[in-house]
Amino acid sequence: MRREMAIGIFGTGCFGTRKQGGAKMVPQVARVFPRRTNATPDDAYAFIGEPDFSRLPADIAEVHISVAFSWDLPRAEVLAALWGKIAPVRIGGPALETRGEDFTPGLYTKAGYLLTSRGCPNCCWFCRVPAREGNTVRELPIREGWNILDDNFLACSEEHIRAVFAMLNRQKRGITQFTGGLEAARLQPWHVKLLKELRPKQIFFAFDTPDDLPALEEAMRLFRAEEYGTRNNLRCYVLVGYPGDGFQAAEARLSTVMNLGMSPMAMLYRDETGNTSLDWRRFQRRWSRPAIVYSPKNRMEVTEAK
Ligand code: SF4
Repeated sequence: MRREMAIGIFGTGCFGTRKQGGAKMVPQVARVFPRRTNATPDDAYAFIGEPDFSRLPADIAEVHISVAFSWDLPRAEVLAALWGKIAPVRIGGPALETRGEDFTPGLYTKAGYLLTSRGCPNCCWFCRVPAREGNTVRELPIREGWNILDDNFLACSEEHIRAVFAMLNRQKRGITQFTGGLEAARLQPWHVKLLKELRPKQIFFAFDTPDDLPALEEAMRLFRAEEYGTRNNLRCYVLVGYPGDGFQAAEARLSTVMNLGMSPMAMLYRDETGNTSLDWRRFQRRWSRPAIVYSPKNRMEVTEAK
């Protein structure tokens, strides 16, 4: 599944309190991100890039630079030197390939984004999760949130999955999402019943290589059996631009997803340096948002599933 984002592997630490101008201050951890993503926190102690020395809060006691992508590591070193003028700096995040610990909502991800487990028993060649987190799933304490980012949520125990759905059913109607992605090959009828009851805004699957197709077809059969799911809420990441991939082959996979009745979202493969070609970036943009994918201007000859 796709969830390579900053999901917090720093310790929480205790910084005590200090005084400024007679008032007792609670020291704060500034979290710094090399780039903004949909999941980046937006509170007063979350920052993107270089510090603006004229506008920083006075009570920053430590700086955590959270790096989601390996190609941002050189920039993280530059940021560490700059933020080091404010407070001691630590660099962490998935790009450092260190195993994640417990998850604190709102710390390295926006409020509502949630990890309820870490790790994945699969070994997809393009994914760093098994190397970083190990080949087993570790179930974490279930916090409150509405956007599940787990590496492989459906690899968790039934007890854990049902407990997460119980938590999600307490959230505001219509905001829940599974943007971390669900593995189609693990989808069972009882999962689909839980999803139908919850009615998430978006449920993502993944079509990374051709051998994912039979599981996706079976997943759609399960959704149809429950008379639940449309292209508006059933979405599918499609990996494009990996070594040996071509535009025609990628477009065929994206069209296949549309024909299945899911809305595709192209995910551009990047190696550790993050390099991609301009043509693949253009291709990815064209296939990234439903409004563009289904635009008449896109002139795509795709027969959608009834
Ligand atoms: S199934 Fe597991 S190994 Fe494959 S992409 Fe998802 S998290 Fe990574």
